[in-house]
Parts: sequence; C-alpha cells; structure tokens
Amino acid sequence: MLKKLLIANRGEIALRIVRACAEMGVRSVAIYTEPDRYGLHVKRADEAYSLGEDPLSGYLDPQRIVNLALETGCDSIHPGYGFLSENAEFARLCEQAGIIFVGPKSTVIDRMGDKTAARDSMRAAGVPITPGSEGNLKDVEEAIKLAEEIGYPVMIKATSGGGGRGIRRCDSEDELRQQYPRVISEATKAFGSADVFMEKCIVNPKHIEVQVLADSHGNVVHLYERDCSIQRRNQKLIEIAPSPQLTPEQRDYVGNLAVKAAEAVGYENAGTVEFLFTGNEVYFMEMNTRVQVEHTITEQITGVDIVREQLRIASGLALSYSQQDISYRGFALQFRVNAEDPKNDFLPSFGRISHYYAPGGPGVRVDTAIYTGYDIPPYFDSMCLKLVVWALTWEEVIARGKRALEDMRLQGVKTTAHYYEQILNHPDMVKGEFNTSFVPSHPELLQYSEKKNPKEVALALAAAIAAHGGL
Ligand code: ADP
Ligand code: ADP
Ligand code: MG
Repeated sequence: MLKKLLIANRGEIALRIVRACAEMGVRSVAIYTEPDRYGLHVKRADEAYSLGEDPLSGYLDPQRIVNLALETGCDSIHPGYGFLSENAEFARLCEQAGIIFVGPKSTVIDRMGDKTAARDSMRAAGVPITPGSEGNLKDVEEAIKLAEEIGYPVMIKATSGGGGRGIRRCDSEDELRQQYPRVISEATKAFGSADVFMEKCIVNPKHIEVQVLADSHGNVVHLYERDCSIQRRNQKLIEIAPSPQLTPEQRDYVGNLAVKAAEAVGYENAGTVEFLFTGNEVYFMEMNTRVQVEHTITEQITGVDIVREQLRIASGLALSYSQQDISYRGFALQFRVNAEDPKNDFLPSFGRISHYYAPGGPGVRVDTAIYTGYDIPPYFDSMCLKLVVWALTWEEVIARGKRALEDMRLQGVKTTAHYYEQILNHPDMVKGEFNTSFVPSHPELLQYSEKKNPKEVALALAAAIAAHGGL
C-alpha cells in the first residue's frame, strides 16, 4: 500500500482524498497557496506546505510539486480533478521521478486528453463515435464543407477542451463562420491550443457517462452510469445515478462499451467514459482520465469507495471484485451548490460565509470544505459544496433532495441551491424524463421568490446577536 501521498489539489476534493488516506493508514500531505491558508484540506491533512502567495501558480507548477513530493518523502501524488489532473506532463514527471501518479499512464492521458486522438482510438476499437471530422479542422472552409456533408446543426469543439468550455453549436454556415474563430480564441486562451474539430450536434441528447475502474493487471469493471443531462452551458449542475431513463439492456450495453473503451487504450485507475444518447443511438463523446466531481453518486448506489480503489490500484493491487460482484441499489442525486447568483446570469458570488448549517438525516451526504466564517476566494471554481442524497426509489430521492436543500442554510453568498429546488419541482423531473435541453428550455424556473422564510430570519438574528456578544 502507498505510504505517503501528496494531494495536488484544494477544496472539497483534496479533503475527500485526505479522508480516504485517514481511513487507509496512508499519510497525507496537503499543498496550498496563501488564500487557502485556512482551508480545511490544510487543517485536516497530516502535513501541509505552502507554495507561495500567488493563488494559482503553486497548484499549477508540475515540477515544483514533484520536487516537494520528493523532499517530503512522498511515494505518490493524487491530482484530484481540474488543475493538473489531466496534464500528461505532470504524470510523466512523476513517472521519471519514481513517484506513483494516482491515475493512468502519461501516454494514455495524452491520448484521451486530445479529443480527436481519443475519437481515433474509439473508432479503431469499434466504439461508436459522434459523426464528425476525422482529425482537427484546417480552416473554416474545410469546416463548412464538412458541415454540408454531415448536416447542420454541428458543434465546433476545442480538441483539448474541458469543463464545458470551447464548445459552440452552429445552425448555419453564417453561424459557423462567426463561431469558428471564437472557439479558436477561447481554446487558445483556456487550453493553450488552437486545435478544433467538428461533431454533428446531437439534438436534445442525454449525457450518460460510465464510471470504470481498471487495475494494472488488466482487469476492468464498470460501476454503472450517471445521467448528467441537467446542464447549463455544457456544465453539469445536478447528476443522477443510475439514469432513470435507461432500460436494463441499454444500461448493460453502455457499461460494456465503456469497459471496451478502457481496455482499448490500456486504461489504469478510475476513469469516466462519456456518451451522448438519443433514442436508441449511443455515441462516445470523451473520456475523463481522473476522478470526477460526481463520483460520489456512484459511491452511494454501489457502496464502492472510488478514491480508496484509486489508491489500491495505484499501489499495484488487483481489483478485489469482478463485474458480477458489483450491483447498485436505489437512486442518488448530486447538487453542485455553486457560489453563484442564478438570478444574475449565474455571476460568481464570492465572499464570507456568514452562516452555514449542514443538512443531514437519512440518505444525505455533504462533500465540502466550507464552514461558517470561511471566505470563498475569488480565484478558483465557484463550486463550494456537493450535496448528495440517496433513496430506494425515484419518488423518494426527489423528495429527499428537496428536503435536504431546504434543510441546508448557507448565507453570506448567493448560491444555486434554491434554483435546484425549482428544478426538482418540475413535472419532467418528477417523471424522470429530461435531456440536455432541460435547463435552457426552462428559464421560468429562475423566477422563484427569494423571500426569507421565518426560520432563516431567526437564525440570522441569532447569529448577529452572538457576534455582538449577546443582547
Ligand atoms: P467533471 O467532468 O468531473 O464533471 P468538470 O468538467 O466540471 O468535471 O471539471 C471539473 C473541474 O476541472 C472544473 O473546475 C473544471 O473547470 C476543471 N477542468 C476540467 N477540464 C479541464 C481542462 N481541460 N482544463 C482546465 N480545467 C479543466
Ligand atoms: P467537456 O470536455 O468540456 O466536458 P464534452 O465533450 O464532454 O466537453 O461536452 C460537454 C457537453 O456539451 C456534453 O455533456 C453535451 O451536453 C454537450 N455536447 C458536446 N458535444 C455534443 C454534441 N456533439 N452534440 C450535442 N451536445 C454536445
Ligand atoms: Mg465532458
């Protein structure tokens, strides 16, 4: 087993990994930049090291992090998600330094991080891909020619894209001419590469992704799927496991496709294969070569601790179960509670959390690194808490989700929590029938009232009185 793990991340995912280490007897090492000095991942890790004043550069400096791991006697590094998690150079530096990178080989990250190379691998392996360009596009004229062949609407996508950015839908040649340079400029800025490619736009698809685990002995299993169709601007808001919209046959089919995809590229560790579903058609979209934000819901339905498995696999152990050993029960939902103002175009809302009261009760899990008095720094992602609920049936999980969102008190910043209650109240959600157009087709769900309920007012008053040392 690993002995000492450096966690090259921050916030809730760093804390999630610290927790796995604590349960497994692995010593954990946190890194932080100045704005995170009072971060929970720093407080809860066994050791913590500052990487300077600058909010971001410390988290994004592969060589410095590998050097720190060597200096502090770590045998391994977990990259979390975001930051350097899909940076092949980082994995390569670890390999060269003899540090175990908790993830796949650098060559596999390279291949799957390049969306056109990933499409090539899938085509070769017989996994269906979205119709589109065979590699990157040369120029807008080539794009127009291809769009005429495959038919509008099409998507122009950044080849090294991620996080929902660098993707534009084009419904006509005019739009394509307009959007093409925009994607290139967005891709250059966000991902340091101007490469773009084209996919047929699948209209109103479901986003279905499959969690896989693969060990270094050639064993690959899947942990069923997640339905991440509730998205805004290609970014996930609410995730669901399993999808209430798949038949058992579709579930088996897509699970086996994901295993086939992972096997085809010699995948190791935890990964996610993302697909688009429309009717009975399934298309491979991309593979994320890391732990995902929404791994939690898969843990709730299968009982498998995915981060624990990541550490076991990284230390060379074989998977302790076969596909037949893995089953799921009930439904889980995850709400990405973002510090954003839904009523103001989801503008980030950073600042001090004046009051936080965690939801609880049966079937409720919270993954967060916030606390009352915590300042949400403006330099990072706006996701500040993941609320996960589990229940035996769809009806119960919707009710439990609403109840847990109501339970939670998070004041001082605007969040997306109330908006999610509106989504759960919608008849299509109650029926369990939705696709990626749900959020854009329901702007009326943003019209909720923000009037404070009496409980909230009383809590705020009590907090104010306490802050002044009594009445
Ligand atoms: P998931 O795929 O786990 O659902 P997201 O796509 O939302 O997660 O990404 C998780 C985090 O990683 C977000 O903070 C996102 O902005 C960031 N991220 C994802 N891919 C990239 C990338 N290629 N480059 C930079 N940041 C990324
Ligand atoms: P990222 O790397 O940013 O996660 P993805 O390729 O996974 O990018 O796409 C993100 C989202 O964009 C998908 O979940 C889906 O909603 C939408 N999308 C991407 N490609 C297509 C497509 N060809 N047709 C329709 N929607 C798409
Ligand atoms: Mg994706």
